[in-house]
Amino acid sequence: MKITSEQEMLDFGEQFAKDCPRVIELIGDVGTGKTTFVRGFAKGLGIKQAVTSPSFTISKSYAIPDGRTLIHYDFYRLDNPGLMANDLKENLNNNNIIVVEWGNSIKNILPKNHIIITIKQKGDYREVTINNRKGIIEGLPEHGSARVSAFSPVATGENDATRNDTLRLFLDTSTPTTILKLNSKEYKWNSGHDLAEKLLEFIHEKLQENGKDWHDISEITFMSGPGSFTGLRIGAAVVNTLASELNIPLKNHKGEKVKIILPDYGRDANIGTPRK
Ligand code: ADP
Ligand code: MG
Repeated sequence: MKITSEQEMLDFGEQFAKDCPRVIELIGDVGTGKTTFVRGFAKGLGIKQAVTSPSFTISKSYAIPDGRTLIHYDFYRLDNPGLMANDLKENLNNNNIIVVEWGNSIKNILPKNHIIITIKQKGDYREVTINNRKGIIEGLPEHGSARVSAFSPVATGENDATRNDTLRLFLDTSTPTTILKLNSKEYKWNSGHDLAEKLLEFIHEKLQENGKDWHDISEITFMSGPGSFTGLRIGAAVVNTLASELNIPLKNHKGEKVKIILPDYGRDANIGTPRK
């Protein structure tokens, strides 16, 4: 979902409160609008008090008219959360609503089904996605029609390999066994004749398994050959399109940054005159 102004972020937060998620983790660089989201969110919960960044106090609490409490944590650069981890644990056990910025150091304490909102600065707008640890919850099509309903608990393990902010995708389609890497995780697929038809689906499925989507990819590396003519051609078309659409760096397997991948077939393409 695209958010193009501070006001839209406030509205999104306000709207989000209507669905009453209990625990939200906000991921995004400094100044992407995490705290701005919380300001809107607090308003949506009926809190009149002004919400300010808890950066220096680590946490701030706000009384919600219905009797509960909103607790806003910011663990920025707090590698060792110490006592604050206990504080958070306690508050998770009560019927409070928790919002966490920079929650990396305490992510093991957060419940398995908490909501993860990721904000990315993209040129002149913010790309916002809503996930849980299993995957994307809903790609809200338009701001304003924001409905977030599928807050069903999902019990799944951590996806540490892809839980940081860089997601490097590596693709090798030069042999009948397609190799896909998402950071350090490797996937193999005997694509056979399905490569052209199913490659995008395969990549997307693995992204989702890691709670990621297309726009989370930060860089693509492609095994540009030599190898299977058809495989390289299809793979190159896919990574060239993805890198261009997502506006992210593209590299060949030698680590050279390229504008587009030109497959190295290792020989002249075997396109002869049609046989009768
Ligand atoms: P964070 O908590 O992520 O560090 P803040 O919410 O404190 O970020 O600050 C975000 C800043 O960016 C605010 O000053 C806000 O006015 C500004 N801003 C500009 N455009 C947007 C937008 N689309 N969404 C959120 N904030 C925006
Ligand atoms: Mg902040």
